Order: sequence, then structure tokens, then C-alpha cells
Amino acid sequence: MTMCPVCGRAVDEAAAKVQTGQTAHGAKEVDPKQGTRQFHDGKWYYFDSLGCRSKFTARPDEFLKKPAQ
Ligand SMILES: [Zn+2]
Repeated sequence: MTMCPVCGRAVDEAAAKVQTGQTAHGAKEVDPKQGTRQFHDGKWYYFDSLGCRSKFTARPDEFLKKPAQ
């Protein structure tokens, strides 16, 4: 189980992958800018919500410096 780097909540990694792998039209495309995960600095980060992902995308360094509470 992985954790949301923004709020520290547990994230279902498998569900995040499935969600990300589908576009609105059902195509199996993985877009690193969509869904509840984000590719950053060589690895994937998973989020419990799109809101958290947006915060992370705006300032990733802020959330990576300190461990999630
Ligand atoms: Zn979160």
C-alpha cells in the first residue's frame, strides 16, 4: 500500500492505475498528466484524489521534502 504524499492517506495503487489507464472514451491510454497518479523525478506518485494531485503538481518539492503526516 502506498501513501498520498500530500495528505498522507492510504492510496489503492491498483485502483489508481486502472483509473489512469482509461480516458473518457474508454481508450487504454496512460497519460501522466491525467488520473490520480503523477510521474515525477523518475517514479510514480499516487494520490487519493485529484485535488491532492493538483497540489503536488503545482509544488512537488514541497511535499517530497518532509514525510507525510
Ligand atoms: Zn491526498
